Formats: sequence, C-alpha cells, structure tokens
Amino acid sequence: MDFRSDTVTKPTPAMRKAMAEALVGDDVYGDDPTINELEQWAAERHGFEAALFTSSGTQANLLGLMSHCGRGDEYLCGQQAHNYKYEAGGAAVLGSIQPQPIENNPDGTLPLDKLAAAVKPDDNHFARTRLLSLENTINGKVLPMSYLAEAREFVNQHGLAMHLDGARVYNAAVALDIDVKEIAQYFDSMTVCLSKGLGAPVGSLLLGSKEYIAKARRLRKMVGGGMRQAGILAAAGKLALTEQIAQLKQDHINAKRLAEGLNIIPGFSVNVEFVQTNIVFAKIDETIDVQALVATLAEQGITASAANPMRFVTHKDVSAQDIETLLSAIRQYVKA
Ligand SMILES: *Cc1c(COP(=O)(O)O)cnc(C)c1O
Repeated sequence: MDFRSDTVTKPTPAMRKAMAEALVGDDVYGDDPTINELEQWAAERHGFEAALFTSSGTQANLLGLMSHCGRGDEYLCGQQAHNYKYEAGGAAVLGSIQPQPIENNPDGTLPLDKLAAAVKPDDNHFARTRLLSLENTINGKVLPMSYLAEAREFVNQHGLAMHLDGARVYNAAVALDIDVKEIAQYFDSMTVCLSKGLGAPVGSLLLGSKEYIAKARRLRKMVGGGMRQAGILAAAGKLALTEQIAQLKQDHINAKRLAEGLNIIPGFSVNVEFVQTNIVFAKIDETIDVQALVATLAEQGITASAANPMRFVTHKDVSAQDIETLLSAIRQYVKA
C-alpha cells in the first residue's frame, strides 16, 4: 500500500477496457473522436465553452497561465501554490510571466487586503497584474464558497481574470457535497487532474472560453504537448469523471480515520480539523526518527514519504482496512 500520493492510483479494469477499444485519430489534426468527445463533454459538464486535454496538470496550468498573461505580465498566487512552487518555475521560465506570491492563510485562502496591496498601478516601473490564481483543494483543504465569491468580486473590481488550479477540485466538490459547477462558476479558467484520485493513467483538462482554449491549443503545440492517437488516454479520462467521483467520499472518510488514529499516537500530532479531503499531514516530534519509521514500514510493504510533517494521501488503491494496518504498524514502531 502506497500513501505517498493519489498519483500512484492504477487505472481500473473498466478504464483498461475502454482504452483498448477507444476510437482514435490524429488529435493534432483534430481527428481523434474520443478526445473531441471528452473535450466537448467536459466543457459542458464544468460550465465552460471549451476544454483542452493535456498531458499533465503542470502543462494545463502552464498553458492556462500563458493564455491569460504575456511577457511582462504578472499573476497573483499563494506561496504554497502548486503552479508557483512545484512546477519548476514554468510560468516565469517559459511564459516570462512574473509570479507575485502572497502568504496563504492557514485555511489556504489568500488575504484580499494583501492581494489588493500587491496589484500594481499602471506605471512603467511595474509588471502588469493580470490574473489571480487560486488552488482548490490546497494541501487537502477546501476553500470556503464564501471566499470564492469574495475573490470574484475582488478580481472584478481590479479588472483581473481568475484561474483555478483544480487538480483536486472534485475532492472539494465531494467534501462540500455540491456540484463541481458551483465552484467552477467563479473562474475564467480551471484545470482538473484526471490522473490523481480519479485514477486515469495520464491527463488533465484545461477549461475556459472558446477564444482562450484556442490560444492554449496553440501553446500546447509549442511546448510539445500535441499528442496523436491520444484518445486511448482520453477514454480513461472520461471514466475518471463519470465513474470514479463516488470513490472520493470513501477516500475522505479513510483520511479522517487516519488523522484521528495518528493524532493519539505519542509523538504524532495532526490538525484533524484541516483534514477535509484525502490528505493528512502529521507533525512528528524529536522522539521519532522519520527515516527509520519509513524504512520499517517499507519492510511491511507500506510506502510513505520520509518528511516532517509526514504527508499521507488516501485514494482508491488503499482501503479502510489498509488504514488500520498502517496505524497498527506505526503503533508497533513507537511501542504505543
Ligand atoms: C499534482 C498537481 C498539479 C500538477 O499535476 P501533474 O499532472 O502532476 O503535472 C497541479 N496542481 C496541483 C494542486 C496538484 O496537486
């Protein structure tokens, strides 16, 4: 059992079958019926005019940022934002877009007064602030719906566009028990990862207006992301969005159970309130050697990341029983 990430999920048997049987064509020519169907369906499903299938979430974010911002423009984001911190600086390197990161609040939101102070006046000393990029979920936390409404008002006031890194937006929708469209409605563009908890082997979506997605499609070709008979991948991606959403609820229950179980083990502390979806962070005190713990777990076939805080991610390929097995292995290690 592997708790490092929900990216480790394997495609389901139904996905393998759909992939084997997918109708395909050359997608760069617009000839892949399975991709065309997925893009049309996904646009409508999420309340946008158009969609683009991409090879990864990183690529979807990069194309997303570059389609809003040009050379010398700026986007506002969180210090903890994936598209700032964990994407190799792609927006700056490949897009010549200046990031303006703001410290995230503990709940993952970005304080609107600090954002307002960071918007640059129209003056030739400054980059042109064009975009606010949010992330939902962020480190497993769900942005409050009231905050999304306030952020929309903020960008309207300042003439900015608003992008959502929605790699795990379905985890947010499931946690809030609302349709994903209710979250999407606030944004000009949004990404969705099909290859995390939703189980597809490869692929993400970028969603936006027709004009915006046409721009992103050209940029996708530029960065080498134009794929050919990729309907084989899109076939699994469609099932990710139609058959795998229901699983997320169980993943969240498992994460909560893991959080509560870890929190009562000596040496571990978890902010259980922040475990709203499928990610658990546990702070480890000096009585525990994290490297040695992870090595001991590995001997029992349990894979976890050796970091402090330790991050555990639940997903379809770890069961409720696996959570108990993990907890008992850790209890045994600390002799609790
Ligand atoms: C994983 C992730 C991405 C990037 O997705 P890849 O498919 O791994 O490139 C982007 N944003 C967030 C919030 C993520 O968790």
